[in-house]
Amino acid sequence: MKRLLPGLLAVLLLALLAGRAVLPGYVDRQMNVVAPTGLVAVSEEARRLHDALFVADLHDDLLLWDRDPLERAAHGHTDVPRLIEGNVALQVFSAVTKTPRGLNYERNDADSDMVTPLVIVQGWPLRTWTSLAERALYQAERLHAAAARAPDRLVVIETRDDLSRYLARRARTPAMTAGLLAIEGLHALDGDIATLQRLYDAGYRMMGLTHFFDNEVAGSAHGVARGGLTALGRDVVRRMEALGILVDLAHASPQTVDEVLAMATRPVVVSHTGVQATCPGPRNLTDDQLRRIAATGGLVGIGFWDGAVCEIGPRSTARALRHAADVAGVRHVALGSDYDGATTVPFDAADLVQMTQALLDEGFTPDEVRAIMGGNVLRLLQATLPASSVRESPPSPMSYPPE
Ligand SMILES: [Zn+2]
Repeated sequence: MKRLLPGLLAVLLLALLAGRAVLPGYVDRQMNVVAPTGLVAVSEEARRLHDALFVADLHDDLLLWDRDPLERAAHGHTDVPRLIEGNVALQVFSAVTKTPRGLNYERNDADSDMVTPLVIVQGWPLRTWTSLAERALYQAERLHAAAARAPDRLVVIETRDDLSRYLARRARTPAMTAGLLAIEGLHALDGDIATLQRLYDAGYRMMGLTHFFDNEVAGSAHGVARGGLTALGRDVVRRMEALGILVDLAHASPQTVDEVLAMATRPVVVSHTGVQATCPGPRNLTDDQLRRIAATGGLVGIGFWDGAVCEIGPRSTARALRHAADVAGVRHVALGSDYDGATTVPFDAADLVQMTQALLDEGFTPDEVRAIMGGNVLRLLQATLPASSVRESPPSPMSYPPE
């Protein structure tokens, strides 16, 4: 046995190293799939229009995966080269910090977590193994580090000043993209409201209150109790509004949606969702919810995956956008792909012209397409981001009149 031990240890070490090298890519490939379904023929007119758009998307989970954001990968849905190829001017990158086993749409408790093994096998720093806040901070660091390595191709937007500087630069150099940091579920606070300031300082400007389970802040659409805001949750929403962080109601329980909309004084978003009218499901929005979100001056991002549109394909997403625009107004809808969110989608970021074509086919005018494909996101950020420094107060709610 004594002589066998070093050999066994060596085998174990090799298995761990091989796991480190192979496993993350394997999981990523299994979970983030492109299945070219229902693609549309792209006309010259759609291509020209698309190339002139400010394209923005409200939800992407790239930062969770073991990929260099600057390198083009043969799998998954997004990276800087593909975003640039798809003429994406701004991508919201959301940090996932804890997900229950199974990712059930109906019911999950908070006991299991699939992100912990992923974090370990991907070799993330030790501090991220036990702290959800550290997982979010690390994902922000990853985006900032990528931008620092390629400042001519990727910019992180934190303020209105950043945004106007970027727009001026991009007018001269279109082959660049920008990221805005978001969080998927405020269990990332580790139960402490003081964490909110640390996340803000790290650049986070949009935060979903819940993900797949009820947390210390609010009830999830997929939780057990599916309640509303907790006392901490109310403080968190007030503090987010004061800092100039957008409140995101994706994955929120109906009661959480009601309670946030009742207290919101600033625009609220639902970054990635579907609508009940075209795809019934526990997390998709009713017409009443669509109207009330629009009334805050906010935005609803429609997704590309089956949970949002039932049957994937650019036409299904365009149909959901048509319904949302008819009910909420065309100035209150946007793209919310859920790229790299453990989803199967019909095309990756490089092929976003598919959406421009599908929207034209759906009867939207070029001006309406411009608004949906990113103009609305740009307008919202110009109105709600903090002006310039982290200490400056955000614009007053009155400066953003909802229509
Ligand atoms: Zn999500």
